Amino acid sequence: LTTADLIEDHRICVCVRTRPLNKKELTVKDLDVITIPSKDVVMVHEPKQKVDLTRYLENQTFRFDYAFDDTSTNEMVYRFTARPLVETIFERGMATCFAYGQTGSGKTHVTRDVFLMLKKPNYKKLDLQVYATFFEIYSGKVFDLLNRKAKLRVLEDGKQQVQVVGLQEREVKCTEDVLKLIEMGNSCRTSGQTSANAHSSRSHAVFQIILRRRGKMHGKFSLIDLAGNERGADTSSADRQTRLEGAEINKSLLALKECIRALGRNKPHTPFRASKLTQVLRDSFIGENSRTCMIATISPGMASCENTLNTLRYANRYVCE
Ligand code: ADP
Ligand code: MG
Repeated sequence: LTTADLIEDHRICVCVRTRPLNKKELTVKDLDVITIPSKDVVMVHEPKQKVDLTRYLENQTFRFDYAFDDTSTNEMVYRFTARPLVETIFERGMATCFAYGQTGSGKTHVTRDVFLMLKKPNYKKLDLQVYATFFEIYSGKVFDLLNRKAKLRVLEDGKQQVQVVGLQEREVKCTEDVLKLIEMGNSCRTSGQTSANAHSSRSHAVFQIILRRRGKMHGKFSLIDLAGNERGADTSSADRQTRLEGAEINKSLLALKECIRALGRNKPHTPFRASKLTQVLRDSFIGENSRTCMIATISPGMASCENTLNTLRYANRYVCE
């Protein structure tokens, strides 16, 4: 892979990443149903049965801006996804990176390492200050992960500017500061939950790096670990809370899809009000100089086939032709 391979002209870049079968999948002898035959194609080999019960594999092909196989490193994923967007925020723009996929497919893994690799910016010349925010959106409500999960209100003023009231913005002077904030936010995110992973997978986590010049916003980079989608459609669950969560996740993912499509087509109208997630990201969707990437993470196991296909179909729509 060379820098020349990087996709530069798209305002949206959509990639997919698979991971190796994990211990649990290997234990139950799950099979890897994913192949990446070339650097932008993903194939899913779905097991099917004919009426006469003979089994066969149905091959489905999806094309992306980039497809990362299970040997790709976080460094590589970063270099092709978030890295090309870093410059945007120094040029008074908005950059947004989404990680989307099934629980356990590697969204947190990717997003965390993307933050870790966001190099200390060279902001001296412009006299920029760097700030960070970290919040989660759970069941349509916003919680500040840098302020003991304080519940925050989202307001829209007359100029349609969206504000998350009271959201803590912490100044960061170096990478170490950023890492500390992420650690603090992550521990806050999971504390008090019986099943930490289950909860964090039911909320969207938004981490932002904000550049300011004489107090005014210059650029913003948002990194978003989207809620797991696999139970999104689970509106039949016996547990009312689970059903409500599922409906809310579905709603926000649909809204996000619409907003990204609008961005891709340069449509003047962006339906950002349809969910809290898209509402708080409004300025990232409407800006003149906005760039977005999405990393769709998938699990390779046959048992995850249906989720994988759903993820690929969802992300597939984004690709700009
Ligand atoms: P999610 O946030 O999507 O639920 P995680 O990021 O927590 O998933 O990943 C689940 C597990 O799989 C973690 O233990 C993580 O280290 C591992 N994992 C995820 N992606 C990869 C990968 N590409 N290669 C190796 N291990 C991975
Ligand atoms: Mg996660």
